[in-house]
Amino acid sequence: MVRLSRRDALRSIGLGGMSLAIAATGCGTDEGESEMEETETPAGPQTYALPPLAYKSLEPVIDDATLALHHDKHHAGYVKGANAAVEALQQARAAGDYQLIKNHERALAFHGSGHALHTLYWTSMWPAGRGQPSAEMKAAVEDSFGSAEKMLAQFAAATKAVEASGWGVLAWEPLGKRLVVLQAERHQDLTLWGCVPLMVCDVWEHAYYLKYQNRRAEYVDAWAKIIDWDSVNRRFAAAVA
Ligand code: MN
Repeated sequence: MVRLSRRDALRSIGLGGMSLAIAATGCGTDEGESEMEETETPAGPQTYALPPLAYKSLEPVIDDATLALHHDKHHAGYVKGANAAVEALQQARAAGDYQLIKNHERALAFHGSGHALHTLYWTSMWPAGRGQPSAEMKAAVEDSFGSAEKMLAQFAAATKAVEASGWGVLAWEPLGKRLVVLQAERHQDLTLWGCVPLMVCDVWEHAYYLKYQNRRAEYVDAWAKIIDWDSVNRRFAAAVA
C-alpha cells in the first residue's frame, strides 16, 4: 500500500511551501484515516515552491499586469532565493566553513520571509472580496481593537505609513492572546516574535506602481475591498486552536 502523507499529497499538487500552513488548518486534504497513518512519518525538510494562484484576476483593484509580474517574477524570486539560502547553509555545514554565515542567515530571513508573506498575500485576497469575519474573529477584533472599523482603520494607517518597502500585517499574538497590527519593513524587519500573521498587504512599489504610481494610500484603500475573510478566518481558527 502506498502511503502518501498529506505533505506529499500537497507537494504533488504544487502547493510546496504552503503545505505546512494548509496542513495546520486541516483544509488541504480530507481528515481521517490518512492523517492517522502519517503521524508515524517524521516531517522532513522540503524544497520551497511557488504556490499557484487560485484566481485569474483581481481587477479592477489590482491590474492583471501587476498580478502576473508580482506572482510569476517577484514571488518566484523569493522562492529561488530561499532555496539557495538553504542550499548554501547545507554546503557550509558540510564544509565546516562558516565564514559567510551572516550572508546566508540574512538571505534565509529575507527570502524566506518574502516567500511566507507573498504566500499569505495571495490568500488574503479574493476577486471582489469573499466572506465576512467569523463570529470568533469578530469577537477577537472587538476585544483587541474596539470594533472592526477601528481595526481596519489602524491596519490601513499602518500599511500606508510603512517606511520604504514592506507590509501591513494583521496577526494573532499568542502570549497576550490578542490581535495586533504590525508593519514589516522589507519582509523580515519589525516583527513581533511568536505572532501568527493572518492577513497581509504588500506595499512594496512592485505591488501597486503600474496602476497607482505614487498613490499608495489609494491602493491600500482599494485593497480593503478584496479581503478574503474566508481564508483569514481559517488562519485565525488554526492560530487560536
Ligand atoms: Mn511583493
